[in-house]
Amino acid sequence: MIDLSKYTKELSKLFSLSENILLVCHVNPDGDSVGAQLALYHYLIVNDKNVYLLAPNNLQEFLKWMDGADLINIFIKERKKCRTLIEDADLIVMLDFNQSNRLGEAEGLVNASKARKVVIDHHLDPGNFADLIISDPTKCSTSELVHELICEMNGAKFMNRSYAEALYVGIITDTGNFEHGLYSSRTFRMVADLFDSGINKEKILNLIYNNFSSDRIRLQGFALNKRMEVIPEFKTAYIYLTKDDLKEYNHVKGDTEGFVNLPLSIKGINFSALFIEKDNYIKLSFRSKGHFPSNEFATQYFSGGGHLNASGGEYTDTLDNTIAYFLKVLKENVWRFEDNA
Ligand code: 5GP
Ligand code: MN
Repeated sequence: MIDLSKYTKELSKLFSLSENILLVCHVNPDGDSVGAQLALYHYLIVNDKNVYLLAPNNLQEFLKWMDGADLINIFIKERKKCRTLIEDADLIVMLDFNQSNRLGEAEGLVNASKARKVVIDHHLDPGNFADLIISDPTKCSTSELVHELICEMNGAKFMNRSYAEALYVGIITDTGNFEHGLYSSRTFRMVADLFDSGINKEKILNLIYNNFSSDRIRLQGFALNKRMEVIPEFKTAYIYLTKDDLKEYNHVKGDTEGFVNLPLSIKGINFSALFIEKDNYIKLSFRSKGHFPSNEFATQYFSGGGHLNASGGEYTDTLDNTIAYFLKVLKENVWRFEDNA
C-alpha cells in the first residue's frame, strides 16, 4: 500500500492550478477505467472545475447509462474535437493504465501535449509517461484508489449518488462482483459507505450483468460446448472463436467479455485463455488462479501485460498457428503451476 498523503498534496495543487482538466480512460474502456474517470469528474465539477472527458474508442453498451457517460468524447469518432481538447488541456489525468499505448490512437497527441500529466492506476510496473504517477497495485481497482485520494484531499468522505455509482461500477467490474482480485476489508468499508449514500445495488447489478442479448448467451453456450479445450495435465483450458463464429451469433463489441473466466470454474483448472480471431491478428485474454503470473506470460509471449491473475495480449498469425504457439510456450512454463493453488 502506498502513502497517499505523499501524492495528494501535489495532486491538489495540480487541480487548483489547472483551468482545463481532461480525464482519459484506456482503449476498450472497462467499468473500472470509466468508473474512476466519471467519479473523478463528479468530484471535480462540484469543485467548479472545467472538466472534459475522453475515451480512445467506444464505450460498451453496459456502461452507457452511467451519469456523465454521454459527455465522454470518443477519440476515433470525433478526432478534431478531441485534438482540441487535448491541446487545450493544462492537466491530463489518465486512469487505470500503466503504459501510454493504452491511449490507443490518442497516444501521439497526448504524449505531445504540453499539459501536466497524472496517472492514477493499480497495474504493476507503470511506465514513465506522466509527471505524477500514483500507482497502487494493492488496490482492487483504480476506482478504489481514486476514492481514497479524494477522501485524503477533501479531508472527509466525498459522496454524491453519481459519484458513488461510478465507484461501485469500477469495483464490481474489476472484481467480478467480488469474486476475484485484490478486494480487501478496506474495499468493503468503502462499499459500506457507498451503500449508505443510497446507491441501488440491484439496479446496478442488472445494468452491468443482466443486460445481455440472447445472441450473446447463445454464443457463450456455443463457445463452451464447441470451442473449449481442456488440458488437465497442464491445469489449463482455452476457448477460441473464429470470425465466422462471431458473425453467426451477431457478435457486438463486449459480447465475449467474461468468457475467459468460465473455464476457471472447472475443478483443477488454474489457467484459462481466450483466443478471438480479428482481421489481422488474434486477441488473447488470460486468467489464472493462485501464483501463476499470467501477466508475465502475456508480456513474454504475446506483447501484452496486465495483472497477475488477469492479463491479455495479441499475436499476429492465423488462429491455428497462434493456438499451436500457445501450446508450445505453455508447455515450457508448465513447471510454474507446480506449487499452485
Ligand atoms: P481482458 O482480458 O479483460 O481484456 O483484460 C484483462 C486485463 O489485461 C486488462 O485489465 C489489462 O490490464 C490487461 N490487458 C488486456 N489486453 C492487453 C494488451 O493487449 N496489452 C496489455 N499491456 N495489457 C492488456
Ligand atoms: Mn482496473
